[in-house]
Amino acid sequence: MHFPTKFIFITGGVLSSLGKGLASAAIGALLESRGLTITLQKLDPYINVDPGTMNPFQHGEVFVTDDGAETDLDLGHYERFTHAKLGRNNNFTTGKIYHSVITKERRGDYLGGTVQVIPHITDEIKQSIISVANDVDVVIAEVGGTIGDIESLPFQEAIRQFKSDVGKENVLYVHLTLVPYISTAGEVKTKPTQHSVKELRSIGIQPDILLCRTDRFLSKEIKSKIALFCNVDVDQVITAKDVETIYEVPLLFHQEGLDNKIVALLNIWTRAPKLGRWKELVEKIKTPKYSVAIAVVGKYIHLKESYKSLNEALCHGGIANDCKVNLDFVDSETIDESNCRERLGQADGVLVPGGFGARGIEGKISAIRFAREEKIPFFGICLGMQMTVVEYARHVAGMQGAHSTEFDEATPFPVIYLMKEWFDYKSQKVQQRDVTSHKGGTMRLGAYPCVVKEGSLAHQAYRNEEISERHRHRYEFNNDLKERLEEAGLVMSGISPDGKLVEIVEMADHPWFLGCQFHPEFKSRPMDPHPLFVSFIKAAIDYKNRRGGE
Ligand code: GLN
Repeated sequence: MHFPTKFIFITGGVLSSLGKGLASAAIGALLESRGLTITLQKLDPYINVDPGTMNPFQHGEVFVTDDGAETDLDLGHYERFTHAKLGRNNNFTTGKIYHSVITKERRGDYLGGTVQVIPHITDEIKQSIISVANDVDVVIAEVGGTIGDIESLPFQEAIRQFKSDVGKENVLYVHLTLVPYISTAGEVKTKPTQHSVKELRSIGIQPDILLCRTDRFLSKEIKSKIALFCNVDVDQVITAKDVETIYEVPLLFHQEGLDNKIVALLNIWTRAPKLGRWKELVEKIKTPKYSVAIAVVGKYIHLKESYKSLNEALCHGGIANDCKVNLDFVDSETIDESNCRERLGQADGVLVPGGFGARGIEGKISAIRFAREEKIPFFGICLGMQMTVVEYARHVAGMQGAHSTEFDEATPFPVIYLMKEWFDYKSQKVQQRDVTSHKGGTMRLGAYPCVVKEGSLAHQAYRNEEISERHRHRYEFNNDLKERLEEAGLVMSGISPDGKLVEIVEMADHPWFLGCQFHPEFKSRPMDPHPLFVSFIKAAIDYKNRRGGE
């Protein structure tokens, strides 16, 4: 392309949860469909250096990139909607910005100057935005939080300054607000949007495009009213109506003229968008031939956001099989051997996802046992895989009291334990870890290679021997007990190339029973569904058919 990199900044008003992350991802998808190269970035106002140390109840899922960054879950949306290669520079927090400024100050980089929010913090923020601008036509940067929050002010000030730094023709501000329908009045209300834009303008940012989240299409009159009060043209007011599936958002935005407006305002010449694949995808999601019920037995089930990528990956596995996947979240604290049949008996597949902490552990083990014995397709991910090994050790290999040392340090059979030393491919160094290691950023994180055993279930799914998957865990399979588990029939079907780390386990005498130490859900995309999820959902459909035929 022959134009300088363009920057789109996305802010949100009125309240959180309006779908700013999805809106950003959808804009990315639309620009890509016009042949542009893009990247996305999330700027988060909280003080944690990354969300890795936050509880999923607090902040939803922690998304992991190939390079091992623990990031905001919006990066998951970005990867699922676009081809952008994301890594640690695609997510900055206040904590990370300050950490870097304070490190420079201690080193003496500021040569005796007073270090201040403006310009030092704002410069650092601008630098972080620039750091992802290499080799792309457009950077889409989403500012977390809501306009008016004290803590997001430095980010807002930085993006305000950005326009004069790189030229006004290269920057576009998109603001997402709410236009609620008030049933007692029988009309939609524009006042929250007016106030939000007023707040934005008071810090010096005039939005170029307003995305109005509503439950209905906005009339020309309403759009004109918003345009008048918010100082934009009427075609710069876009309806962001609720949709049936998130993958419809790019199509809806396009129908509202959003991508045309963006390229016009940024003065970019592109081809017309090619949206055929998105249309096909949405069509497929809306008219599935089959349906299955998957029981997800976990701890964070009350918060949908906690298993975001997992939910999406299951949906993708469904799309590939022309199947709607209904999720039944089962609280692992409420399940035990006595009620498994009642709670899981109707499921066409059981999945135990990743997690931390002892709560609900025995419930997960009971669910795995039930799925194994009843021959219900079973998928264990990360902690789910670790508990699969524990269950198998206890009930098949005769290792009474087997456990992970995360939950029982004195177990006679520590089948999962803290490996004191392991060779880290990324740093090409031997890493050491013990219980006193720092909590932040010290897990096995990001993409690691794995060799898949020929003829295994995993191999049938991947159709490949060499794979790479993303990790986020501290504990590992204990090789000292491997032989005994193998003799009892557990198949180690995925191992690190040096043979030291067990990455996938499965059971031969079962239609589909597999646990993986990594998180396959992070790499699944609607148009490129993850092979393990495709294979698992296929097994669930087969199981349902078999059961129906009995
Ligand atoms: N708590 C386990 C560990 O740290 C599993 C982590 C996970 O499921 N992400 O190894």
